Amino acid sequence: MALLEILVYPDPRLRNQALPVEVVDTAIGGLVDDMAQTMYAAPGIGLAATQVNLTKRIVVIDTSEHQDQLQVFINPVITGMGEQIETEEGCLSVPGVVVPVKRHSEVQVSALGKDGKLFELHATGLLAVCIQHEVDHLDGKVFVDCLSQLKRDRIRKQLLREGRSSGKTPGQGKESQPAI
Ligand code: ZN
Repeated sequence: MALLEILVYPDPRLRNQALPVEVVDTAIGGLVDDMAQTMYAAPGIGLAATQVNLTKRIVVIDTSEHQDQLQVFINPVITGMGEQIETEEGCLSVPGVVVPVKRHSEVQVSALGKDGKLFELHATGLLAVCIQHEVDHLDGKVFVDCLSQLKRDRIRKQLLREGRSSGKTPGQGKESQPAI
């Protein structure tokens, strides 16, 4: 297993469109393991392949209290359900920033697991929010896209400045919200 580098906004590679995984083989299994290790080390509760510069539709999530229940979603397809809610979100690719984002309160998701088998899941609460956030990443979207141009510019400048001065992941450890 290996730790992967997490891309930081406004890195243009966060805009890449991830492509469907054709065969879930041992190579994909290895990527899933690396992504999980990277997510836990960050620490975060969700990670999309786009965030580690892999253009594949793979998401790992663990919203459990003790971070011991990894969930793997390969080629996830989601249907938003329930009412629209506003949640405070943080993101591993936008460190130190927490903003309100509108989401569906529930989702129905179908995906392949690490074993290559198709499964369906009805998710609510934090897991539902997490799945929507990560599938946005696969489509090249970042949660700050919903903010005004002015606020986005401010965040972009701040992260560029911190990235230059520290030479490592900016804003690390500042998140007051679990980052996804
Ligand atoms: Zn994110």
